[in-house]
Amino acid sequence: MSHILIVEDEAEIASFLAKGLTADGYTTTAVNNGTSALAIMQQVHPDLVLLDIGLPDTDGFTVLQHMRNAGLTTPVIILTARSSVSDTVSGLQSGADDSMSKPFSFEELRARIQLRLKKESGAPITDLSHGDLRLDVRNRTAIVGDDVIELTAREYSLVETFLLNPGRVLSRCLLYTS
Ligand code: CA
Repeated sequence: MSHILIVEDEAEIASFLAKGLTADGYTTTAVNNGTSALAIMQQVHPDLVLLDIGLPDTDGFTVLQHMRNAGLTTPVIILTARSSVSDTVSGLQSGADDSMSKPFSFEELRARIQLRLKKESGAPITDLSHGDLRLDVRNRTAIVGDDVIELTAREYSLVETFLLNPGRVLSRCLLYTS
């Protein structure tokens, strides 16, 4: 089972994440600062990292930079403060694979984690769907009923974002960075 490293200094959030992910069958390790995060990564080799941006010693961006400079390609989902679009943009530009802004629903985080881990393993992913629309994440095509629709990269990422956020109103900034 996949191992998820939680880097979060707010004890309540860290424990909420650890409990939820453990219940889903993941192994978790939690640390509350950037220095420990970098140290422990060498030991546990996580399959995915949930990285808070506001940490007591260094920020999440620095941790991410150190990881990418060291050649670690582990998927990273950054956790940003509410509506901090600039953090989201900087995070994605510094090599994060995805971002969640607090407060977030555990269901959405779970969907994003599953998506990243499946992309990493190369397994076929066809579980993003809504009504008749199904997104084939591996072939980057949409399937409506029996019809396969080829999508441009831009169209694909928009559809993926919509399907990951059913029923939610999404800001223009989020859509531009998706
Ligand atoms: Ca924090």
